[in-house]
Amino acid sequence: MSTVFYSHPDCRLHDMGAGHPECPQRLDAISDHLLATGLDIALQFKDAPSATIEQLERAHSAHYVTEIQDLLEQVRVGGTAKALDPDTVACPQTLAAALRSAGAAVAATDDVIAGRARNAFCAVRPPGHHATRDEAMGFCFFNNVAVAARHALDVHGLQRVAIIDFDVHHGNGTEDIIAGDERVLMCSFFQHPLYPYCGAVPKGTNMVNVPVAAYTRGPAVREAIEAMWMPALEEFKPQMIFISAGFDAHREDDLGQMGLVEADYEWITRQIVAVARRHAGNRIVSCLEGGYCLSALARSVAAHVRVLADVA
Ligand SMILES: [Zn+2]
Repeated sequence: MSTVFYSHPDCRLHDMGAGHPECPQRLDAISDHLLATGLDIALQFKDAPSATIEQLERAHSAHYVTEIQDLLEQVRVGGTAKALDPDTVACPQTLAAALRSAGAAVAATDDVIAGRARNAFCAVRPPGHHATRDEAMGFCFFNNVAVAARHALDVHGLQRVAIIDFDVHHGNGTEDIIAGDERVLMCSFFQHPLYPYCGAVPKGTNMVNVPVAAYTRGPAVREAIEAMWMPALEEFKPQMIFISAGFDAHREDDLGQMGLVEADYEWITRQIVAVARRHAGNRIVSCLEGGYCLSALARSVAAHVRVLADVA
């Protein structure tokens, strides 16, 4: 069985303005590198469908889904970009891109649970892990991973899923949505203090938050994962694993000050794949979050996807 690679041309059209780090070229860098390395032949490429309102409302309040869809539709029709916060800008193509991003995660979940794919990587933007139940923030509009996790639980009837977030920033939106939902175990590390300046005190007993200091490098992160994530995952025995795959903890990425390299992303992915093999019938859906140094992003995604696709 193959690894599915979900994306959509609409995800490239979301543009938050000149100089914004969360830029369309991120997806170009990833696809170029997959082609250049020949890794593309190991993947099954699929176009993401759009998420439905019903799917979005599994992670977001009905009020928020209505409000943000109305706002993004106004921007689409009006043709003028609108800043929701200093970092998060809606442009006329944002609605389509955001629906494709969440839709990719849902469709990937369907494929993996149906056995059409062993696992999946969603190369999508906007990212999702800062989007809370009721708020867009930090480049994020809909929480792609939380929408997909709830889809697995509520539609497919799974009883336990894990969310693993290795972005350099704390996934506060995902925590806001799933803290207290004992069907979900969330394991993360993140640079602290750093945007969004929370996470050191977990909001629920189902959260394994590992704040780490700036300039922390791979060996210390690996030790923390072995000590903090692995026992929790082994005890929880997730039936499926979702990954908030941000690559901005890379040494070359300027949005964080951590020191991971491609080999660390490969190692982390191997640990997740091993847990999925032991407990989850190999089921993994990974969704792109951050990663802003284009070259480091492309190399790190390749290292991650190479392990998912089991390419030597
Ligand atoms: Zn990030």
